Amino acid sequence: MPNQPPEAPGPRFTAQLTGLDYALPGTLARRFMRCGKTSCRCKADPPTLHGPYLHWTRTVAGKTVTRSLTPDQARRYQAWFDNARRLRDLLGELEARSLRAFEDAEG
Ligand SMILES: [Zn+2]
Repeated sequence: MPNQPPEAPGPRFTAQLTGLDYALPGTLARRFMRCGKTSCRCKADPPTLHGPYLHWTRTVAGKTVTRSLTPDQARRYQAWFDNARRLRDLLGELEARSLRAFEDAEG
């Protein structure tokens, strides 16, 4: 008789998904940059870089798309980025569990 798969983690996963109304794909990065001017504070020693600039990067139809966000926008949508990250983490955990269960059952 094959091994039974481990008990499904249903309620725990469901609880973590409850209340997730929005999830923005991609990543929100805070970057500090140098500009093109030769005599600028960003070229000084030590340099004072410009920024932070908030760049939202995601993949659309195989292409990387980047959009700048204002600090205010980043604050407003941070929770949506966090939700998407949680979903990715949960999916990864679920897939790893499932692969282990498959290997245990089928060898
Ligand atoms: Zn500069």
